[in-house]
Amino acid sequence: MTTKRIYYDDAFAREFIGEVRSCEEITGEDATKWRVVLDRTAFYPTSGGQPNDLGTQGEARVLDVVDEGDEIVHVVDRAVQGSVAGKIDWARRFDHMQQHTGQHLLSAVLMKEFGLETVSFHLGEEICTIDLRGLEPSAETLVAAEQAANAVVFEDRPVSVKYGTAEELRALGVRKEVDRDGVLRAIEIEGVELQPCGGTHVARTGQIGMIQLRRCTKIRQDWRLEFLCGERVAKAARADYETRRAVAEKLKCSPEEALSMVDKTVGERDASFRLAKARGERLADLEAEKIVRETAVDASGLKIVEHVFEGIEASYVLLLAPAIATHEKTVALVARRECGHIFFGQGPGVGKDMNALLKKVLGVVGGKGGGTKDFARGALADPATAQRAIEIARAEVG
Ligand SMILES: [Zn+2]
Repeated sequence: MTTKRIYYDDAFAREFIGEVRSCEEITGEDATKWRVVLDRTAFYPTSGGQPNDLGTQGEARVLDVVDEGDEIVHVVDRAVQGSVAGKIDWARRFDHMQQHTGQHLLSAVLMKEFGLETVSFHLGEEICTIDLRGLEPSAETLVAAEQAANAVVFEDRPVSVKYGTAEELRALGVRKEVDRDGVLRAIEIEGVELQPCGGTHVARTGQIGMIQLRRCTKIRQDWRLEFLCGERVAKAARADYETRRAVAEKLKCSPEEALSMVDKTVGERDASFRLAKARGERLADLEAEKIVRETAVDASGLKIVEHVFEGIEASYVLLLAPAIATHEKTVALVARRECGHIFFGQGPGVGKDMNALLKKVLGVVGGKGGGTKDFARGALADPATAQRAIEIARAEVG
């Protein structure tokens, strides 16, 4: 038996009395639930991009609403019988009505004024999206579409339900091809568009509240446009303002100055990064010189610098090790305790093979790495073996 869909003709019905036609127990994995079919319902089932309603039926909580063709099935958390008082979670439903009607309006504006066809719609918990087909919408197009859609909101035009066959609706100006038989339902935004739809909508465009377009990204061959309507716009604007205010507070400026202050701060950061890098290089050269000067020449006429650094940043060790290895007849065998990074390098006139040496050491203590004859670097499997790795290398160099 067909369930009468109260929401088709009265989207604002929040409460209703329905007769229970059937109530079947379903044993789920976690909890027992019941499938309830009523003679009539104001509960909207998930369909057409709009999520289902929630609410109560007497003492029972409605967990899901499913469209099964003729019947609407309510999944509830306890058994019901006889006459039940249905009550819709109105905040949730009205939000859905705002998003859904906003989508109709936005899609119509994008099609009529910018030639962008809506090929799908998703109404999410936080964000709504439509997928648009056509040329990539520019930032100016999006701003213009938002303004045009909001102009219709401010005009507070009536939104009404029309019924007719596919042919009749086509005669009234429905663009979308519909291949369903019988009487169809369509939604009209006066003077803007007429669109076949089974969803719930507000009664006047003013109730959409406000439409805000957000991010637009490429998704396969289409453009996925995020948008918000109604209370969601106020929440997003509030969150955006709070972010801006927090940024301004950190930058010690007013929210109005935040962007220019970010530009200035990023510029300063980049400049000081370049300066620190140049200083690091200069310092590494000087320290390398000092280390080499203080290292004694061994029996084979080489200076072997062996050291496990600790408490020194990795980027500096990476400058220092090659700087040591640029000195004539000098070998650098260096590791960093914290991360187990290891560097072997040789200066002119040494004539050994640092890559082969590294492979040999890593073969004993474990790790990965490689390089050239003059400079090789790697990472020990266990940083605790740093000292031992350097000792092995030292013994190998002779
Ligand atoms: Zn609709």
